[in-house]
Amino acid sequence: MECRVCSGKLHGFADFGRQPLSDHFVLPGDPAPEFFFHLAVGVCEDCSMAQLLEEVPRERMFHESYPYLSSGSAVMREHFEGVAKRLLATELTGPDPFVVELGCNDGTMLKTVADAGVRHLGVEPSGGVADLAAARGVRVRKDFFEAGVAAAVRAADGPADVIYAANTLCHIPYVDSILSGADALLRPGGVLVFEDPYLGDIVTRRSFDQIYDEHFYFFCAASVRAMARRHGFELVDVERLPVHGGEVRYTLARRGARTPTPAVAALLAEEEARGLTELATLRDFAARVAANRDDLVALLTGLRDQGARVYGYGATAKSATVLNYCGIGPDLVAFVCDTTPAKQGRLTPGSHIPVRGPEAFADPYPDYALLLAWNHAEEIMAKETAFREAGGRWILYVPEVHLVGA
Ligand SMILES: [Zn+2]
Repeated sequence: MECRVCSGKLHGFADFGRQPLSDHFVLPGDPAPEFFFHLAVGVCEDCSMAQLLEEVPRERMFHESYPYLSSGSAVMREHFEGVAKRLLATELTGPDPFVVELGCNDGTMLKTVADAGVRHLGVEPSGGVADLAAARGVRVRKDFFEAGVAAAVRAADGPADVIYAANTLCHIPYVDSILSGADALLRPGGVLVFEDPYLGDIVTRRSFDQIYDEHFYFFCAASVRAMARRHGFELVDVERLPVHGGEVRYTLARRGARTPTPAVAALLAEEEARGLTELATLRDFAARVAANRDDLVALLTGLRDQGARVYGYGATAKSATVLNYCGIGPDLVAFVCDTTPAKQGRLTPGSHIPVRGPEAFADPYPDYALLLAWNHAEEIMAKETAFREAGGRWILYVPEVHLVGA
């Protein structure tokens, strides 16, 4: 297996077996066979990039009915408003600045830029969410961002001051084309800013469910710096973010354009000290994850045998990995409740657990709720205080299997 970034040799370290598309919620009775792929992760011995060993064709994942909405969580809405305000305050120069966002989703970030009267463009391949962005007054191009599209945008709109991407770059195996596109589109002092789940947090928290079809790369400062340098960029800033279970925001500028902040050297040193991208560290992570799986299956099986009622909370994309890797079906979790209308009335991918609306959660409350959206744990537990007051307990499986409540 070859690294998608540098063609170096990949070493596998974790294997989650046969997995479905994480956002393909199945209609009951649909005779069409589900698409499955082999979910396994490796690390490159040359550039240290962690990545999936099998790539799922992008059109299977990012299409008209892509169901994830950036605006779905109040915490995330606030987060993206903060991002927009900061980009507007610090990165825009000249009389007519231009901001581009890759994978703008429903326009949660760009809405604030649009409201400020700043020229902008969202590039978004998933048609349904792109239409939502357009309806909010955000200018959108329905496309996958790559070198050719970047050149066309440059020709039409001129150079960009900032290219921003949240939870998008790690989705894109052909990242070469993104970086050469960024090089074509950015003005000389412009920056590419992107934030994605951080390999360091995935290993520390054992958050193996960050690994699913859509997350192709698992970035860290060392691998991002190596990737940037291949395209004439330098990693000039990093910032740890508490969202989505731990992310890092990386800022790339052309080499020589900016002096890297001390935060870059600090994070690189921390990664080096803990051996983050070493095979032994990553294989140890995989062994701990396998132990979590055994614990979770033992707990749920025990609860079923006692006759306890267990529901799932949050039919997230990441839940596909835990449900399928652990072999959790409707015999262990009666249903999963979720606020996304497009998922309700359907079955979870591969594991075929019914998805119901949020009202089903309290009617009546279960004895236990498996928190599949653990990255929003605080927000959800604050909203569902009545569940705990009724004696309910949350089951979490990150960083280890544990109960919260009662
Ligand atoms: Zn590599």
